[in-house]
Amino acid sequence: MKTPTFQNIPSHAHCKVCGVSMPKTRSFCSNECAAADEKGKNRGKKFNRFFLVVMVILFVALIVIQFS
Ligand SMILES: [Zn+2]
Repeated sequence: MKTPTFQNIPSHAHCKVCGVSMPKTRSFCSNECAAADEKGKNRGKKFNRFFLVVMVILFVALIVIQFS
């Protein structure tokens, strides 16, 4: 069985959003993908904050229940 060599493949990167091959100098293949990634980041940040607030409320509620 012949081992494949990757030496002749020019250095390239894949779009973070859709995985399409593109030049290494870019992070996304299109403005649509850049916008989609930015949207996803914001949503993740918002969700983390929401999760943190819920945890704090639960923690405080537990303490209140314990001492009431
Ligand atoms: Zn893309």
